[in-house]
Amino acid sequence: MTKVAENIYRKVVPLPNNPLREINAYLITGERNLLIDTGFNRPECEEALRSAFAELGISETDVFITHLHSDHCGLIQQFSTENSAIYAGETDGELINFEAGNLYWRMLDDLFIKYGFPKADFGRNTDIHPGRKYCHKKRVDFTYVAEGDVLEYGGYRLRAVCTPGHTPGHMCLYDEEKKILFCGDHILGTITPNICIELSAENPLGDYLNSLEKVERLEVRQLLPAHGTPIADMYARIRELKEHHRQRLEEVLGILDDSWKTAYVVAQYMTWEITCKGWEDFPAPQKWFATGEAIAHLQYLYFSGRIQREERNGVYCYRK
Ligand SMILES: [Zn+2]
Repeated sequence: MTKVAENIYRKVVPLPNNPLREINAYLITGERNLLIDTGFNRPECEEALRSAFAELGISETDVFITHLHSDHCGLIQQFSTENSAIYAGETDGELINFEAGNLYWRMLDDLFIKYGFPKADFGRNTDIHPGRKYCHKKRVDFTYVAEGDVLEYGGYRLRAVCTPGHTPGHMCLYDEEKKILFCGDHILGTITPNICIELSAENPLGDYLNSLEKVERLEVRQLLPAHGTPIADMYARIRELKEHHRQRLEEVLGILDDSWKTAYVVAQYMTWEITCKGWEDFPAPQKWFATGEAIAHLQYLYFSGRIQREERNGVYCYRK
């Protein structure tokens, strides 16, 4: 565990067999404690967090969840008590409770099929989704935070900043005086945050680019992401992320011609940093994330009027 600032600790929680490898849980200590993000609902993550609690002598904490993904909220139940406040933005909070049931995953599967992802031959594609496997299992009684709400912990005044994009209700916490931003998966140093279609988000890349501009206007000296080490220069990283998506959009445009293609087909022609011989060798979850990212870029181009979209046999297709 590393102390990153007065009363703020970063615990690296392992994510076994996951390409992300690990997640940062942040603990702010004080009169009341605050845990920011949790790790998957699996024993390796729980063990790591328990050791951090023991090291800091913490037995009880409030919890803030940056967004709905299971590597961030999987252990809510294990690390909260009846005295804990559990904070999240309303959009992702509602989705977190929705994803504890079956309907969310069925709807997500149907959504991908609508964009050309093939139906699974073993049931639902989402049956093997890692986010589903390591999800929390019960409804959470959230205290919802909205843009501008302030949480006070450990001598910090943490203002909620809505940053939709990576998920529809992603939220950061910002201390204006200390110039610290807990940015969840909104900005990551070593990888590009996955931008993927989600229930209730038709143009996630559009949302994401707007949210990047929003945090670019904040004065930030210490950027604390949910994966990887703290990022030294947020502004330089934002410029890189914008450039990455600009190039990705050009790449997608270059793949399209005057024939109709689904997002699933476009994804196969995009370049991916994965050591596989070809698309057929991609592990199923990677095909899923790749297609999600193709959809995000196609939808952005469609909403900016640069390409056409048509529903053909119940499936969205795109062309120039
Ligand atoms: Zn995430």
